[in-house]
Amino acid sequence: MLLREVEYARPASVEEAVRLLSEHDGARALAGGQTIINVMKARAASPDMLIDLNSLAELKGIDLGADGMLSIGAMVTYSELMASAEARARPIIGEVCAQIADVQVRNRGTIGGNLCSNDPTNHLPPLMVSLGATMHITGQNGDERSVPAEEFFLGVYMTAAGPGELLTRITVPPGKSDGFAAVSIGKDGTCIVNAAASVNGGARVAIGCVDAVPVLLSTDSADEDAVRGAVRQANLEPPADVHASADYRRHLAEVVAVRAVAQAKGKT
Ligand SMILES: Cc1cc2nc3c(=O)[nH]c(=O)nc-3n(C[C@H](O)[C@H](O)[C@H](O)COP(=O)(O)OP(=O)(O)OC[C@H]3O[C@@H](n4cnc5c(N)ncnc54)[C@H](O)[C@@H]3O)c2cc1C
Repeated sequence: MLLREVEYARPASVEEAVRLLSEHDGARALAGGQTIINVMKARAASPDMLIDLNSLAELKGIDLGADGMLSIGAMVTYSELMASAEARARPIIGEVCAQIADVQVRNRGTIGGNLCSNDPTNHLPPLMVSLGATMHITGQNGDERSVPAEEFFLGVYMTAAGPGELLTRITVPPGKSDGFAAVSIGKDGTCIVNAAASVNGGARVAIGCVDAVPVLLSTDSADEDAVRGAVRQANLEPPADVHASADYRRHLAEVVAVRAVAQAKGKT
């Protein structure tokens, strides 16, 4: 389907992009376009203006600090994360990116777009919550703030990067003992339920697809019974659809949480 007429701007700096986004109510950032263009084609959203982030060098690059902290630009693609020597400091990131859709989507889709769209079936929101990542946001007048991943996701397609703001970078602390498990619709397909776990010190387990935002379990134990208990205590009320009933998703949540933790423990 053809797109409705839309204005287009290709700013040369983050400052200009943020200014354009705040000056135009109907403006939206364009990253890899793998969600927003499809949503526009389906007429589920119709921004008046697209602010193309693809020229912004400030949003690109992957840096590994001497302290092991990874800093990933919002416009880094999944393929770049998979190929990056720096990103291998936290191998789970490239491993999970390799499971997203197909090579075309991985070549265009960006970490920032994945997190900012916050489709509840996306792979990266629960992953970033389990890793204890921090989101760095720039707003009007160059105001910068940092938000922990567990506070970044606010609802379906809603995040702490509000109107007139851009997610610029994601920082991820060091660690290697991470896991990710999903039951998906076919290989590399959309997740029915997914879970990400990190057991670097205490356990952090986040479950996706069962609520509007990733659910961070309230246990820091990586013991299987503790993880199962924490999933039950979360009193999940997952959606039901053609792929799975709410009860089945609840069951899968426990299964994938245990698998993700076992995978993470196997990497200690
Ligand atoms: C066939 C297909 C299958 C897919 N399967 C999966 C899957 O299984 N798992 C999965 O995780 N994803 C999947 N996706 C989605 C894909 O990963 C998208 O790339 C991703 O969700 C959005 O990234 P993008 O860079 O394309 O963002 P865009 O589509 O360009 O933008 C998405 C949204 O985020 C906003 N945005 C983008 N960047 C920023 C920023 N820096 N600051 C503020 N707002 C920003 C945009 O305004 C827009 O609202 C699939 C996509 C397709 C086409």
